[in-house]
Amino acid sequence: MSITPLMPVYPRCDVRPVEGDGCYLITEDGRRLLDFASGIAVNSLGHSHPALIEAIQTQAAKLMHVSNMYGSPQGERLAQRIVDTTFADTVFFTNSGAEAVECAIKTARAYHQHEGGDAARTELITFSMAFHGRTMATISASNQTKMHKGFQPLLPGFKYVEFDDLEAARAAVGPNTAGFLVEPIQGEGGIRPASQAFMTGLREICDEQDLMLVLDEVQCGVGRTGKLYAHEHYGVTPDILATAKGIAGGFPLGACLATEQAARGMGFGSHGSTYGGNPLAMAAGEAVWNVIANEDFLANVRAKGERLRSAIEQFIGNHDDLFELVRGEGLMLGLKMKVESRPFYAHLRDNHDLTTVAAADNVIRVLPPLIIEDAHIAEFMEKLSAGAADYVVPEAAAA
Ligand code: PLP
Repeated sequence: MSITPLMPVYPRCDVRPVEGDGCYLITEDGRRLLDFASGIAVNSLGHSHPALIEAIQTQAAKLMHVSNMYGSPQGERLAQRIVDTTFADTVFFTNSGAEAVECAIKTARAYHQHEGGDAARTELITFSMAFHGRTMATISASNQTKMHKGFQPLLPGFKYVEFDDLEAARAAVGPNTAGFLVEPIQGEGGIRPASQAFMTGLREICDEQDLMLVLDEVQCGVGRTGKLYAHEHYGVTPDILATAKGIAGGFPLGACLATEQAARGMGFGSHGSTYGGNPLAMAAGEAVWNVIANEDFLANVRAKGERLRSAIEQFIGNHDDLFELVRGEGLMLGLKMKVESRPFYAHLRDNHDLTTVAAADNVIRVLPPLIIEDAHIAEFMEKLSAGAADYVVPEAAAA
């Protein structure tokens, strides 16, 4: 038998972390890496944060799981906190980002199929280079054919349009349109922020035609950009939003947030999850929310983001053979390279003990824990400089 016990769907590298310590990952063979990937925007409080450990340990000893058939004091408490601090009136908890997007898609369709709605409106307009997860609905929602290969047939009900092209989005709306599903800042697509005009325009189209604006903030949400949710930078409010990743700092948790109006189709029996909203996840989520949903904390993320960004901008000025620009918001930054980014990210990891994440469009994603200090920024810049200085572009990776 040649297949590995772990289904070989990931091209795993040789770095094998077994421990985390603040902004560092420690490997099986004792290496200590500066972690500016945060498990792809997940470890928002870094590794082994005392408040998160305490919350999980305490709750684990009390009650880890109970069926959603029972009342949930823990779930009610976290949902109330989220409702109090966001646009949402109601929350459905999931175990992952893709499940949060699935719930968001169902909520948008159910809005139109509810009494008084237009049941023909089943189709969501989505955007090029989007990433919404790996379930059948979420791969169907993305135009990236590499994710479709081997998994046909896709689910119907999605129409793809160029990202950030408002006129194309407007032209795509028809009698079957249920709404738009969009990442305000694309993550896997290469840290590509939508323009203000695009976000405002989508909201206007939705208001004019009674459509749902569904935001996927799985990667850009929960303080990552220096606001609790990225749409706040645009002053644009969604009807439905999917969130996950950083929301419980590494404990599996996601959520679908909605206004009361948008959630009108989500009545008893319409949706569910065995594990979703279990007391242990709720305790982890509440511990993270207590830290992040705080204006001082978010202001610090913005300040650190500006410092990091200007340091990178200054640095790339001296390396214009390798780097083109830096983009993004807060601590969700993308360093666009003039050569393939994947080999350079591997070089930083393997030779300079620095983790980042590669993305589409030859981008290196810089996603540090939201608790970084100036010393971590300085160390990152040292490692990045050293990595650029001794990098030999592999022949196949030259642009
Ligand atoms: N949506 C976005 C924007 C993401 O970046 C991701 C994961 O990278 C997902 C959805 C899927 O989340 P998960 O992997 O937790 O299912």
